Amino acid sequence: MMEKRITEIRQHIVAACERAGRNPSEVTLIAVSKTKPISMIEEAYDLGIRDFGENKVQELAKKHDQLIEKYGDNIKWHQIGHLQRNKVKQVIDKAVLIHSVDSLRLGLMIDKEAAKKGIVCDILIEINIAKEESKYGVYEEDLIPLFMELIKLPHIRVRGLMTIAPYVTDPEKNRKYFSKLRQLFIDIKTKNVDNGHKDIYFNPDKFDILSMGMTGDYQVAIEEGATMVRIGTGIFGERNYSEQ
Ligand SMILES: *Cc1c(COP(=O)(O)O)cnc(C)c1O
Repeated sequence: MMEKRITEIRQHIVAACERAGRNPSEVTLIAVSKTKPISMIEEAYDLGIRDFGENKVQELAKKHDQLIEKYGDNIKWHQIGHLQRNKVKQVIDKAVLIHSVDSLRLGLMIDKEAAKKGIVCDILIEINIAKEESKYGVYEEDLIPLFMELIKLPHIRVRGLMTIAPYVTDPEKNRKYFSKLRQLFIDIKTKNVDNGHKDIYFNPDKFDILSMGMTGDYQVAIEEGATMVRIGTGIFGERNYSEQ
């Protein structure tokens, strides 16, 4: 069951890359394992999945700790859900990437905790591209001011952008949002940020991640330039929150 699903998703990723003239090696498949048991993560691991996404800090930390002995650093955990400042501590050295930074206050806390651990934390800035009230993320017009502040923090490395597009039944409806996110991404990457300036920690070559696309719309997202897609239902099946 899971094998068939993952095989199909991989084929769809390759096909979407071909349509867009891209190399499939540019796209990382993140399996979103929120609410799903350890046994299913192990099953996905055996099918070649190495990147897993979790929404909740406690769940990420718990699963990380349960699997670290068996798999070591081979599993890469992604914090994809909203992150509260008081939980940064718990996730900072367990996640390889925090996808959901949307305020300077949160950035400052991550910088502070990363400094304590002597690490540099990779982050993405989350954009609320369709300005949905129910969603986290900054509006596009607030992106550059936030970016300019975040790159002053020595223990943070801004690696790219992330968005959660609206829930739609026709993925084509989200194409404009994915395209917009890619444009913002390119604008930042090619903007002349003074790299030699001593209090700016930004390397455009390491600004290379565009996290967008979920089960319903990842193929369109890849056509529009996604380098990470976050797929939950498509791999693990429907989630049942009541069993939590
Ligand atoms: C749950 C979730 C996903 C995966 O959603 P599916 O539709 O099940 O693929 C992706 N990204 C984020 C931020 C999520 O919370």
